Amino acid sequence: MKDFIYADNAATTRIADEVLEAMMPYFKDNYGNASSVYKFGRDNHQAIESARKTIAHLIGASPMEIFFTSCGSESDNWALKGTMHRLAAEGKKHLITSKIEHHAILHSAEALEREGFDVTYLPVDEYGRVSAQSVKDAIREDTGLVSIMYANNEVGTIQPVKEIGGICREAGVLFHTDAVQAAGALHIDVNEQNIDMLSMSAHKFNGPKGAGVFYCRRGHFPDNFMDGGAQERGHRAGTENVAYIIGMAKAFEMACAEMDAKAEKLAAMRDHIKEGLLKIHDSQLNGDPVNRLPGNLNVSFAKIDGQSMLFDLDLEGIAASSGSACASGALDPSHVLLAMGLPYEMAHGSLRISLGRYNTMEEADRIIEAVTSVVAGLRGEKK
Ligand code: PLP
Repeated sequence: MKDFIYADNAATTRIADEVLEAMMPYFKDNYGNASSVYKFGRDNHQAIESARKTIAHLIGASPMEIFFTSCGSESDNWALKGTMHRLAAEGKKHLITSKIEHHAILHSAEALEREGFDVTYLPVDEYGRVSAQSVKDAIREDTGLVSIMYANNEVGTIQPVKEIGGICREAGVLFHTDAVQAAGALHIDVNEQNIDMLSMSAHKFNGPKGAGVFYCRRGHFPDNFMDGGAQERGHRAGTENVAYIIGMAKAFEMACAEMDAKAEKLAAMRDHIKEGLLKIHDSQLNGDPVNRLPGNLNVSFAKIDGQSMLFDLDLEGIAASSGSACASGALDPSHVLLAMGLPYEMAHGSLRISLGRYNTMEEADRIIEAVTSVVAGLRGEKK
């Protein structure tokens, strides 16, 4: 097998050496319970509070508005279910989201519908964009929350978050954004961008898997999602995962410091691969041609089965994705591509290449070569 190329950074990323190094002492030497009264525990409490401060500062929040969770999915569940349960008492039983959200949002919304809440799923245009006007038009008297993702995990399209947040603010409706793909890749300022709640996940920016952030503007804390001890100021129970929280803060700090240089490097590689892949006949770019995540490329090929393409690329030593990584294994075409209006066949033949910190231009060339050969092979065009 040729040297392995990892091109599925939207699914997860390799932990950075510096992050692992920062985490290690908390597994073996500094293993105290951060809620204990003795110094061995208190020191870890302080380390957690310092991580909270770091993350808060980097998104323009205050530390008391940052809650540590177990993943992006938990943050999304908490935002939707906790907020709607709290607002139901005020007669607000309507939630607005979009058709292209991650399943952590969509399945939470569906669970709320089963409880009797009313949900509007906004459509998107051909590039996967939610229009701010459609949010405005959908807001009703009983709307409690709007949840629109910052950037899409499959096609990379960036949403007009600030504008949508502004509309919600004006209407007196809370605004949550799933920033799991955006955090560490795009600038975030919760005040400047009118964001009331936000979800992040460490493993998308070279941090550990199983660590997330839920930001919530003070005054709007949702009902508890995890009951138990008094951790996270009584809002989220569970013994603090000290090592992972420290790792997440370190990873986020690094990602924010490297953001502009990394975006430039990733966009150059992405555009190079895009040019190469669009030379293949009967192919098309999916997602916004301009406003998209710097490391995301999504291309569809006619007369190709996405899963077969992934297997053949795997044999070439390339890890990529077709549709959402979280949905892989299911043969249904991506709900995102279908919502964008792609015909079934093109949605089925989609390939997502997502680049990260450790990819190189040499790998970009090998990806073009391998995809070109695999597509020709699957189409029976190889001589
Ligand atoms: N939201 C988006 C946009 C994602 O891409 C993902 C993961 O792929 C999640 C939420 C879930 O995050 P986690 O894997 O940390 O639960």
